[in-house]
Amino acid sequence: MTLEQSPLMGQMMHQPLMISSIIQFAARHYGSGEIVSRRIEPDLHDALYRSTYRDCERRARTLALALAAQGVAMGQRVGTLAWNGYRHLELYYGVSGSGAVLHTINPRLHPEQIAWIVNHAEDQLLFFDITFLPLVEAIAPACPTVRGFVLMSDRAHMPASTAIPGLLCYEDLLDAVDQAAADAWTWPVFDENAAASLCYTSGTTGNPKGVLYSHRSTVLHAYAAALPNVLNVSAADTVLPVVPMFHVNAWGLPYSVLLCGAKMVLPGARLDGKSLYDLFEGEGVTFSAGVPTVWLGLVNYALQNNLQFSTFRRTVIGGSACPPAMMDTLIDRFNVQVIHGWGMTEMSPLGTTGGLLARHRDLPVHEQRAILQKQGHAIFGVDMKIVDDEGAELPWDGRSAGHLLVKGPWILASYFRGEGGDPLQGGWFPTGDVATIDPDGFMQITDRSKDVIKSGGEWIGSIDLENIAMAHPAVLQAACIAVKHPKWDERPLLVVVRKPGADLSRETLLGWFDGKVARFWMPDDVVFVDALPIGGTGKIQKNRLREQYREHQVAAE
Ligand code: AMP
Repeated sequence: MTLEQSPLMGQMMHQPLMISSIIQFAARHYGSGEIVSRRIEPDLHDALYRSTYRDCERRARTLALALAAQGVAMGQRVGTLAWNGYRHLELYYGVSGSGAVLHTINPRLHPEQIAWIVNHAEDQLLFFDITFLPLVEAIAPACPTVRGFVLMSDRAHMPASTAIPGLLCYEDLLDAVDQAAADAWTWPVFDENAAASLCYTSGTTGNPKGVLYSHRSTVLHAYAAALPNVLNVSAADTVLPVVPMFHVNAWGLPYSVLLCGAKMVLPGARLDGKSLYDLFEGEGVTFSAGVPTVWLGLVNYALQNNLQFSTFRRTVIGGSACPPAMMDTLIDRFNVQVIHGWGMTEMSPLGTTGGLLARHRDLPVHEQRAILQKQGHAIFGVDMKIVDDEGAELPWDGRSAGHLLVKGPWILASYFRGEGGDPLQGGWFPTGDVATIDPDGFMQITDRSKDVIKSGGEWIGSIDLENIAMAHPAVLQAACIAVKHPKWDERPLLVVVRKPGADLSRETLLGWFDGKVARFWMPDDVVFVDALPIGGTGKIQKNRLREQYREHQVAAE
């Protein structure tokens, strides 16, 4: 009797989990599913490119052959500097599906950091949108591993002259492939643990580190992300990922949306409030996902112009804490359900999502909101725990705050090329976040470990203080940071951007905190600024604020 026939073994087909199976499924079972993509070429920026999952699969397989023609081998990295657009989607499937590794690069990083990442990843080809031509021209001489730079456009949009030697054209590469050969070609099947895509952490301190996702981790994450408790995507949805495909695979949406057969709308380079609103209304978007800073633009545009959304009903907000005031506006003013999501690059990225349990249905609205504002419940596939400084596990009482550790099949085991040594603690990945978990399993982030404010030996939750500040009608944005204090070690300082035209004094804002927090949590001072520093992934750069205000004097009480 062979092992396969043994009654101890399951007797089901063995099929490795491949990213290419998602696009094949979408093309075969939802072939006419729509992809609507805003063009990126400047002369076409109002135009929409319409295609289907069938078209996308055909072009992705043609691209796979074009990559082979360029000499890209299994496991080699192919870089992209691109917006959310149809060609980027083709690269998602064409590169990983052919066995090479899709390396998405965040174009908002500093050019030197981008060149560093390209070299570290040893990218063989670099695909880029026309927006990034000047950037690529500047870094090309510093990227010796790149054998070919490919402009993601057609011949008509190739620059008359460029500093990039031998610049290639995306559509030319596809046109050069024999279509009969492409139609006959089948997607390769290989070990599901093979590397599929690579994304570098935002690297606020030190060099960025690479997170190398596998086919297996990506497909499992895509399944889990689609669950009703998570993103709740269905074939009846029209999904617009605002969250960029250049960072953490747009929270897995380019995979989950296709395996659910939903309509996909890709916003290209224009993410301002008006452009997004027009696309939401024009294409009947029902569901979207993005970081709070993007929603700020969209929500303010809709408020200022007294608009409503006719089809938009659900959104996931994450990447940094969703301010309660934003959640209230979306739910109460626009009738949009808000799902608070938490995760990180090292987690593919989804870890928890918020929502109510059946027995929360009859709670008063403000109690329901307090639950929705938590970062949420672990998704099946993710386990989590909180520990104290010595590593001892803390109770799930909703009060004890500790270091948050996670594990699961789509969570990083080690960084690309082993950078930083072994990151795990007893098999768990330390997230660097500080959190509480309540008896129902709802996790709430109180801080990033490095953002924690420690006053007289006690932790002060900067996120709570920011949320209270942002609930003030005159506050647009707020960040709370630790400043040095002779007696208490550290005290909270609020750095605030007022709403345009709003009148708000330091005293009024500090008075707003009365009765809302414990006395020792009260911010010691407020600094008003015109803008907060925002990093490449749309998050407030608190480390820069800390440097700037390190010596800020607050009264020594
Ligand atoms: P990144 O790897 O760039 O996606 O950053 C991950 C970090 O962003 C997490 O470790 C958290 O500190 C923060 N983060 C992500 N989502 C949330 C959220 N919903 N609330 C608070 N912090 C968040």
